[in-house]
Amino acid sequence: MSHKTMNVEEIHALAKSTLMRHGADDVNATAVADIITMAERDGCHSHGLMRLAGYAATLKSGKVNGKARPTVKQLAPAVVQVNGHNCFAPLALETGRPHLIEAAKTCGVAIMPLIGIHHFAALWTEVEPIAEAGLVGFACTSYKPAVIPAGGTKALYGTNPIAFGWPRKDGPPMVFDQASSVMARGEVMLAAREGHELPEGVGVDSDGKPSTDPNEVLKGALLAFGGYKGSSIAMMVELLAGAMTGESFSFEAAARDNGDGGPPQGGEFLMAIDPTLVRGDDGWADHAETFFDKIQEQDGARLPGMRRHRNRANSGKGVEVSTIVLDKIADI
Ligand code: NDP
Repeated sequence: MSHKTMNVEEIHALAKSTLMRHGADDVNATAVADIITMAERDGCHSHGLMRLAGYAATLKSGKVNGKARPTVKQLAPAVVQVNGHNCFAPLALETGRPHLIEAAKTCGVAIMPLIGIHHFAALWTEVEPIAEAGLVGFACTSYKPAVIPAGGTKALYGTNPIAFGWPRKDGPPMVFDQASSVMARGEVMLAAREGHELPEGVGVDSDGKPSTDPNEVLKGALLAFGGYKGSSIAMMVELLAGAMTGESFSFEAAARDNGDGGPPQGGEFLMAIDPTLVRGDDGWADHAETFFDKIQEQDGARLPGMRRHRNRANSGKGVEVSTIVLDKIADI
């Protein structure tokens, strides 16, 4: 697999110019380029430049409005709704985040439902800034059907990621971010691109038979992690990001999608909690550190997010980007 070493400024410029060439304005292109660059910087290649072709396809087909301006509506003191008016999710998140943070710091907890957005990104980029503001963050979003409900035969749930962020006094927040499927679809696409077999138990082919061939699994369906337990989490995400926000379930998003290869229109659910207001003092931070120490004193155990932060620390030396991805971008 050949790679080219690029610095983060070059990655940002490539992403932004490609998006602008396909009709995004400066603000929209910058918001998406920011999260693509963060993904490459942290070694999350499945949600970095690899996604640019999909973003560009939706601009070309007109499904996404690359010039949209999201609007914010305070539905209740602790409910900040953002309507993306068909933009990519990053600009809607950026627009609503200060309002969510302010509401959580006033009310102790606040919810931010997002509607009219197109989501294609890694969720850690969304809860990390909430945790950096001293709040506990939670986010989840649905997609198009890719995961079979436990015991069923047909994909119904999206890969439905959930992310959780916990602020820390010294150092970056603890953030975990995981798909409800055994493996994110982006990782399966990466395996297909790089010619790797998948581990057993990730997915099935279009006939519902277990398969380790990523191309067959992409035509078939993925399994939820942990059997019926992960399946219930995927279902919860559908309810929070679909029914609760007033947006669509994954199957409804797919039904109205034009199949251009980019993200469908859907919803997202975010929540921020002020732990100091919940507890009545700021002792939560030191208390949590003793717990994190207990985890890390076990040989082989680590906190989620540490791999990303290690990559981030090394990103000044440049990031290795697949030439297959770069060739594809050149052809967009
Ligand atoms: P992974 O399975 O790679 O990682 C899940 C989480 O577990 C990460 O926070 C990771 O931290 C942590 N982790 C991994 N190994 C360990 C370990 N040994 N000990 C402790 N923690 C560990 O992620 P997924 O494949 O499930 O998801 C990848 C991405 O895909 C996510 O960012 C998700 O948001 C995105 N996604 C987006 C969708 C969308 O529709 N927008 C749909 C589905 C997924 P670390 O990073 O440090 O390894």
